[in-house]
Amino acid sequence: MKDESPSSETITFLGTGGARFMVISQFLASGGLWLNLNGTEILVDPGPGCIVQATKRKLKAEKLSAIILSHRHLDHSADTNIMVEAMTQGGFRQRGRLFAPADCLESEPVIFSYLRDRLEGIEVLEEGKSYSIDNISFTTPLKHIHPVETYGLVFRTANHTFSYIADTRYFDDLCQHYASQLLIMNVVFLEPRSPADHPGMPVDHLSVPDVRHLITELKPRAAILTHFGMSVWRANPGLVAEKLSQQTGIRVIAARDGMTFDLSQLDEG
Ligand SMILES: [Zn+2]
Repeated sequence: MKDESPSSETITFLGTGGARFMVISQFLASGGLWLNLNGTEILVDPGPGCIVQATKRKLKAEKLSAIILSHRHLDHSADTNIMVEAMTQGGFRQRGRLFAPADCLESEPVIFSYLRDRLEGIEVLEEGKSYSIDNISFTTPLKHIHPVETYGLVFRTANHTFSYIADTRYFDDLCQHYASQLLIMNVVFLEPRSPADHPGMPVDHLSVPDVRHLITELKPRAAILTHFGMSVWRANPGLVAEKLSQQTGIRVIAARDGMTFDLSQLDEG
C-alpha cells in the first residue's frame, strides 16, 4: 500500500451499488465512502460488506475518527455495528463518534446498545446544522425527500470543499445548498420515476436527468456519480458519465468499486 502524505485528501469508494436489487445481488459492492482528509479518517454510510471492502483495502477502522450515516436504510447502515466494533478495537477502547439522524437511534436503532457506550459520543444530525471532526467541518444543509430522515453532507477541509448528495427525490432546494468544488451524487435511476407509475415502490431517488440539472446549476469543478441502481448499471455508468461530461462541460466521473479520488485533482487546470 502506498503511504499517504499527511497533507493528502482522498475519498475511497468502498462500493458503488445502491438500492435493494443491486445490493442484494452485490453486482456492485456497497460499503460506503472512506474519507482520509489530511490524516482524519471518516467513514460515510457503511452499507453491507463495508468491513470486507475496508479490510481488503487495508483501511484501518481503528484509525477512524467518526462514522456518519446519511440515513438508516440498510444499504447505508447495515455494517454500522461491526464498523463501530472495529473503530473501538473490538470494544476495548472507547473512541470515535457516530453521527446519525435521530430516527437511526430511536425505535429499532441501527446500533446495539452495548456499542453505544464504547463510542466517545453520538451526535444527532439535524437540518441546517454544522459539525466538526478534528479540523474538518461538515454541514447537513437540508432534509431530503426520502422515506426516512435523510441528510446530505457538505464537507470543508483546509484546502477543499465537497458535497455528498445522499438518497433523495429531486427538488429545487437541492440546487441552493450543495455548491462546492466536488459534487458526489447517489444516482439510482436512469430515468425519473413517478410514484403514480410505481405505486408502493421506492422511487425517491435521483435519476440521470436530475443529476445533469444539478451539475448545471451547482457548477462544481468535478462530479462523481455513485450508488447505482440496476438501470444505471445496465446502461454502463462510465458511458453515462461521459455523456454528462459532454452535455455539461464539467468533468463527470463514474465511481468504481475501490476507486480512490484525490482531491488535489480539483486544483488542476
Ligand atoms: Zn435510502
